[in-house]
Amino acid sequence: MASIDFEHIDKIYPGGTQAIFDYTLAVADGELVAFVGPSGCGKSTLLRLLAGLETITRGTLRIDGQPVNALPPQRRNLAMVFQDYALYPHMTVRRNLEFPLKMRDLPEAEINRLVGWAAELLSLGGLLDRLPKQLSGGQRQRVAMGRALVRQPAVFLMDEPLSNLDARLRVQIRAEIGELLDRTGITTIYVTHDQAEAMTLGDRVAVMDHGRLQQVAPPRELYERPANMFVAGFIGNPPMNLLPARLVSTGAGGLRLQLGEQDVALAWSEPVERWRAWSDTALTVGIRPEHLRLTDAAEGVKATVVDAEYLGHETLLHARIDGMAAPAPVAVARLAGLRPFDKGQAVRLSVEADRLHLFGPDGLTLVNAAADAVA
Ligand code: ADP
Repeated sequence: MASIDFEHIDKIYPGGTQAIFDYTLAVADGELVAFVGPSGCGKSTLLRLLAGLETITRGTLRIDGQPVNALPPQRRNLAMVFQDYALYPHMTVRRNLEFPLKMRDLPEAEINRLVGWAAELLSLGGLLDRLPKQLSGGQRQRVAMGRALVRQPAVFLMDEPLSNLDARLRVQIRAEIGELLDRTGITTIYVTHDQAEAMTLGDRVAVMDHGRLQQVAPPRELYERPANMFVAGFIGNPPMNLLPARLVSTGAGGLRLQLGEQDVALAWSEPVERWRAWSDTALTVGIRPEHLRLTDAAEGVKATVVDAEYLGHETLLHARIDGMAAPAPVAVARLAGLRPFDKGQAVRLSVEADRLHLFGPDGLTLVNAAADAVA
């Protein structure tokens, strides 16, 4: 077991591409941190730096407090699990599991004990004599996990391990991996572009964009208190609605929030003072789809139905906010149950104002209504 410290890491590839900028993150012993971000953000680069497959340009990487910048991969006591399994096709499951142990010249009895332990943990008992081609995708993934596990590494590195599986299997294996990692307590870095996977597996989730760490937090905090507009828009499905807005001073000393020409009723508690600095500035308001409701009340925001997705248990209503400059943004509202809508239908949406987010011109979070109400 081990802690991992990334300290001000930069990575510049030969040729000059800088893939990682000043990356600092401390991973505790036994923690599972999911690295998530869009393709090309630098997730795999970080993993390869950690594994010792790429050199660090600047900064220090520590495993259990020891700098490892110059330590070769085989001396880092890490095990990697990739999406393509990399099982030996001509070897049975048992031989695949034994292989890394035989390479280490472990005694036969110890090899048998470790293979038995991994097979038990991963429910591979009945499959030990099969060849990889006689296994389903999910079973192959479990064998790949087993082969990493028998080495009893201090750290697991997983690079999109589920992306070759179909959606249903992915959810099942995701749950199995989560349980396995809980039980073994091995420090794990789990790389994925899938925010749902990161949110369900990670003790904490580290969100990256363009080679920079945007925010690292437990899943719930990331969802409820995104630090900036990128994280707000990346975490959650359907994504948070991000709409151009302004705070406008009212004569009575209060503030109104305007979407285009329309006022949004503000239910957040004072102090409004803190926000006054941003009045009459072009801002972005963030509203999660579940915090928009249909209303008959006159203060609802007027919108026009563009589309409705019927998902059975809920309906995702896509509606264009009326009276906004083209291209007028489409907001998505998540409504319970099956709701019929016609394209072009006029609707009114009410906003749960105590769940609003406001972002400044630089994309940083200015107001998190839920957090501010608690504070
Ligand atoms: P991700 O895993 O998030 O998709 P990567 O770490 O693979 O992102 O890539 C991050 C950036 O570094 C991208 O711009 C990519 O083109 C660049 N990159 C990755 N590997 C190399 C390499 N060997 N040489 C040069 N540039 C690279």
